[in-house]
Amino acid sequence: MLKLFRLVRPFRALLTVVLALAFAQSLANLYLPRLMADIVDHGIVPGDTLRILEIGALMLLVAVLGTGCAIGASFFSSRVATGFGRTLRERLFERVARLSVHQFDQVGTASLITRTTNDTTQVQQVLIMLLGMAVTAPMMAIGGVVLSLSQDAQLARVLVAIIPVLSIVLFLIMRGAVPLFQQMQIKIDRLNLVLDEGLTGVRVIRAFDRGAHESRRFDEANVDVTATAIAVNRLVALLMPSLFLTMNLTSVSIIWLGAGRIDAGEMQVGAMLASLQYAIQILFAVFMVTAVFVMVPRAAASAARINEVLDVVPDVNDPVTPAAGEVTTGLVQFDNVTFQYSGAEEPALSGVSFTARPGETVAIIGGTGSGKSTLVGLIPRFYDVNAGRVIIDGVDVRNRRLEDLRAAIGYVPQKAVLFSGTIAANIRVGHDAATDEEVRRAAGVAQAAEFVDALPGGYESAVSQGGTNLSGGQKQRLAIARALVRGARIFVFDDSFSALDFATDARLRAALRSGTAGATVFIVSQRIGTVRDADRIVVLDDGRVAGIGTHAELIRDCAVYREIADSQASLGDVA
Ligand code: ADP
Ligand code: MG
Repeated sequence: MLKLFRLVRPFRALLTVVLALAFAQSLANLYLPRLMADIVDHGIVPGDTLRILEIGALMLLVAVLGTGCAIGASFFSSRVATGFGRTLRERLFERVARLSVHQFDQVGTASLITRTTNDTTQVQQVLIMLLGMAVTAPMMAIGGVVLSLSQDAQLARVLVAIIPVLSIVLFLIMRGAVPLFQQMQIKIDRLNLVLDEGLTGVRVIRAFDRGAHESRRFDEANVDVTATAIAVNRLVALLMPSLFLTMNLTSVSIIWLGAGRIDAGEMQVGAMLASLQYAIQILFAVFMVTAVFVMVPRAAASAARINEVLDVVPDVNDPVTPAAGEVTTGLVQFDNVTFQYSGAEEPALSGVSFTARPGETVAIIGGTGSGKSTLVGLIPRFYDVNAGRVIIDGVDVRNRRLEDLRAAIGYVPQKAVLFSGTIAANIRVGHDAATDEEVRRAAGVAQAAEFVDALPGGYESAVSQGGTNLSGGQKQRLAIARALVRGARIFVFDDSFSALDFATDARLRAALRSGTAGATVFIVSQRIGTVRDADRIVVLDDGRVAGIGTHAELIRDCAVYREIADSQASLGDVA
């Protein structure tokens, strides 16, 4: 947690102000009982009205100043703490954005959300509390003890007896609460996970009538969090009463003992009242420290979870010294590439070699799970090869800045993802500065123009979160337009035509010929019809290249390809 608190550094000036104000406030608080003792003792001397008014005015002034400082301190400490929270969330988000695809999967979306929101808040709250007591509590405790000793050493003994009692009680409560607090974070994580799955999978849940089952699952997680929260709060609820009990017991003993001593003429009333005040201040300081220590373990658990994310070193990085700048031609070579997902037992790709030249369309075909998506994901470096090289324009992709590399690639993912906003804005994700004309042209090539023009709002029509107000085929076509508008050197269509009917698929591919002229085009598909016109077809089988060639060559020479073709022939697709 200390490591995280380093993030308050930019707020050093504010922090100094907070601590100074807290210091002034503590001084005021320590001074007040003294003045009160004075006024009481003078009050007993008849006729000294002026002096009483004088001291009274001073008390008022000190009280007002003290309160002002207290308000100022909490105002500025809130600023520091919320600023800290903001920086922390920013850091987390930045880091998450830089993680490679499978590093991202390792933590999981639900947990990343909890870590960015709830966990950050926990740490932030402890920071507020720490700032509130860092100066005040020690000053009040130590100053209080010293000053009450100076008032009356006898009465101060009450404190010697009572502080250990309070400390033990507080310690016992804490020991019970701390593990529960730590469990809370894990249970909230679980709750978010179930909620996240329930919301993103809502269609599947409805279709398979799993609503009741999901409700039960959510309920379990929900009840679990609730039970822990109740248990923890029960314990914490004991804090206040035990504090007040000790305070009141202390007051009674001080008044009891004090009354006797005043009666015997050994002490003045003012001194007793001052001792009473100091005792309460001291106990309150002890209480504050405990309250912070109750919060610290929970926040420490949160801090550890945050650090887990901040400490992940992104495994796809810019090279220290880039060997080349922008991609100019778009020649792509796979040189004996082997890739294995971390945690997988077998490589998803082994010994893959082939070349794709500018102006060529290279199709990649193979059954599901044969490694097609994995293969094309290596081009924009979603992850890096385990062995071999992916070379673009003669330079290993790892030796180019990610920005330069990705600027040259128009990538259409297998599952089209759109963002909330307008259709035009979604297409411009590919190229911010694209003119309306360019957006329209890209949509035209992607065969999206027709349905977009038919929408009431045209290109300004809204796309809902995740594009749920569009059909699968419409989303795919917008995702294609988004890639095309980039004017890239390399285009990757990962099974991007699967949701299109055969006629649209054919028209799209014909339009692509001109829309991607001069670029290197990768088309991933499972349909022979989609790949047969390609300049070169790479047949993948279980992560290995089973054959490379044109449609005619492969029909003649490649058993795997023939098998796929035969299985689809009956569909009238390979006519
Ligand atoms: P295709 O696109 O040809 O259907 P993929 O490239 O998606 O196939 O997957 C190839 C193999 O890699 C499959 O066996 C799949 O189970 C595995 N795989 C895909 N993604 C991951 C991942 N993120 N982690 C582990 N294994 C994966
Ligand atoms: Mg795939």
